[in-house]
Amino acid sequence: MLLTRLKVLLQHGTQYIRHLDRVKLCDEFRGRPVLRSNGLSPAAATELCSLCPTGAIAYDGRLKLDMGRCLFCGECAARYPNHVRFTNDYRLASPTREGLVVTEGDAPEWSFDQQAVRPEIKRLFGRALHLREVSAGGDNSCEMELGAAGNVNFDMGRYGIGFTASPRHADGVVVTGPVTANMARELESTWQAVPEPKVLIVVGTDAISGGLFADSPAVNRAFFEVHKPDLYVPGNPSHPMTFITGVRAMLQPLSDAEKPDEEKVAEPKAKKAKSKRVKPQAEQQSEKQGN
Ligand code: SF4
Repeated sequence: MLLTRLKVLLQHGTQYIRHLDRVKLCDEFRGRPVLRSNGLSPAAATELCSLCPTGAIAYDGRLKLDMGRCLFCGECAARYPNHVRFTNDYRLASPTREGLVVTEGDAPEWSFDQQAVRPEIKRLFGRALHLREVSAGGDNSCEMELGAAGNVNFDMGRYGIGFTASPRHADGVVVTGPVTANMARELESTWQAVPEPKVLIVVGTDAISGGLFADSPAVNRAFFEVHKPDLYVPGNPSHPMTFITGVRAMLQPLSDAEKPDEEKVAEPKAKKAKSKRVKPQAEQQSEKQGN
């Protein structure tokens, strides 16, 4: 019996990705774009911008691509391969909406603005983050990828990140889909059911900007006029690695150099206060008695 089990284990091999920090996706994956307008005539620039179905590309002397609106369909790269290229870098998430806009000449490496993350998120959720997912008119693509983020391959649970059924047990909400009118109230009531403090994460182009459905009368995005997301995870659908690296970056503790000045000042004060703590009477008496 034991031998059979060992045989099965050997046959299965390693099921999970050992080091998520070293994941490299296939070359066909469309991730972070690289833009170049050299040799692009004004007429060609206008055509390039107009072929995008969601208006994600703009040109004002430099090319810009808004990953929060991009469907990653690859049409622009296919028609203008010398000017638009998609790399296989899946690290795209940002704590700000502006951070999703890639401008020609930007450094090719992913930069995550740690200062833009609310300090209580890092303080309270660094070890465990349980999220309630709301598919607000989604097409089940981002939802499937989020499910995959927790499967045996990606296993984001190893970092304490997971999904929970009840908003009462959640630390935050993940929104997918463009938020259809008939899901607007449900999204708001789910958000209200999550106890404070809480985080809001939007996953996928549809959730970030409305995507192809942005101008549809069937969509009601009033929720985002009131609640600002803490993390934007682009993709259409978003890759599990884009989600996992984004959430991990959001929870990552700040280095000393990154800490805001108030925190640096507050820390020594807190230590001083701790050393000057007045001991309670019972503690003093027990010390006197040598206990
Ligand atoms: S890949 Fe993005 S930017 Fe390019 S055409 Fe498609 S949606 Fe527009």
